Amino acid sequence: MPMKEYDYLVVGAGLFGAVFVRQAIDAGKRCLVVDRRNHIGGNIYCEDVDGIHVHQYGAHIFHTDNKEVWDYVNRFVAFNRYTNSPLANYKGVLYNLPFNMNTFNKLWGVNTPQEAKDKIEEQRREYAHIQSPANLEEQALTLCGNDIYQKLIKGYTEKQWGRPATELPAFIIRRLPFRFVYDNNYFNDEYQGIPKGGYNKLIENLLEGADVRLNTNYFSDRQALNALADKILFTGCIDEFYDFCFGHLEYRSLRFEHERLEVDNYQGNAVINYCEREIPYTRVIEHKHFELGKQPHTVITREYPADFTLGDEPYYPVNDEKNMQLYEKYKEMATSVPGILFGGRLAQYAYFDMDDTVAAALLLAQNEL
Ligand code: FAD
Ligand code: UDP
Repeated sequence: MPMKEYDYLVVGAGLFGAVFVRQAIDAGKRCLVVDRRNHIGGNIYCEDVDGIHVHQYGAHIFHTDNKEVWDYVNRFVAFNRYTNSPLANYKGVLYNLPFNMNTFNKLWGVNTPQEAKDKIEEQRREYAHIQSPANLEEQALTLCGNDIYQKLIKGYTEKQWGRPATELPAFIIRRLPFRFVYDNNYFNDEYQGIPKGGYNKLIENLLEGADVRLNTNYFSDRQALNALADKILFTGCIDEFYDFCFGHLEYRSLRFEHERLEVDNYQGNAVINYCEREIPYTRVIEHKHFELGKQPHTVITREYPADFTLGDEPYYPVNDEKNMQLYEKYKEMATSVPGILFGGRLAQYAYFDMDDTVAAALLLAQNEL
């Protein structure tokens, strides 16, 4: 049999595909990468607007506790010292996130950790009868009581997920850190930062040595693309790969409204969340602050949550019970086909942060190569 042109066809030039490609090329394999978008990088892609790297698909802050992953990405790009410390705007008042002493001080005028704990205890006591929280609202009320829930969680969460908090799984809110020091660092992880020069550099360096075809939808030319390589790594939606044979997985989508402003500093912080239900966007990003930019202009992005219908960008998997059962069927089908690998946020239907994505891609590469 004549040798095929490539060892791997990688569908998707996002972070998962790019890490796998790097490992494959370093192991002597030939890779062809296709992406239906007109650029590499998937959701971490940035557009350069006169020196400001605009995160086209939402704010991306790299943070991890995994030293192997941190060392790995640092091989390809240096990171700056950016520390994420978002603010939350509720009815014109600004509160620090994550929930910490600064937040409690602003909410209740308490000054010491003990005063804050007493206040939260008093707030939680009302919900002590909830033994095991059945939904996000119950989880939030038992964790932090009514004040924080009403001002900083309920509106943001309901617009983000497009449904009442009583119908959302409790685990979403366990992602919100909660602490009793005056520390606005959003993440508890040991390592964090933004690539110096932007995320595109990371992806470009990972993909070096691979052939890349943009504006190429795998499904439009499936047979011909399959014929080019011995094996396939697919990082798109797993339900689409199987022609939705068991039904459609649900996603949440987003709409981004980018705006260039001729002022040097619009909001004084990279990320400001808007927690009122009545304001249609969830956050406003001012990109230059990720890189401590000094340009005379600025670019902001309003992020609007959106329902997902086929053809939209599937940003977040909806990992509730119904969808996870459906995903398990696709996963079972996927493991039974030799020569086709699946990985990444869409193919694994998982709420992966970038470090999880890198770790998962390295694991797949290790098993495969
Ligand atoms: P993607 O980046 O989605 O890449 C998949 C690629 O496959 C896409 O380019 C797509 O066009 C392509 N593709 C799909 N189907 C086809 C097809 N049929 N044919 C050709 N190409 C196809 N993580 C953090 O660590 N920190 C953050 O602050 C953070 N913020 C986030 C904010 C938002 C709004 C979102 C949505 C995610 C955020 N993440 C963050 C998560 C991060 O984006 C992911 O971990 C990472 O981008 C996943 O990479 P991936 O390659 O799996 O998926
Ligand atoms: N959240 C909230 N208020 C905020 C920020 C976040 O209630 O000001 C909740 C919301 O339910 C959201 C979850 O916390 O879906 C996780 O938010 P985070 O910003 O950590 O994750 P991301 O949406 O960026 O993946």
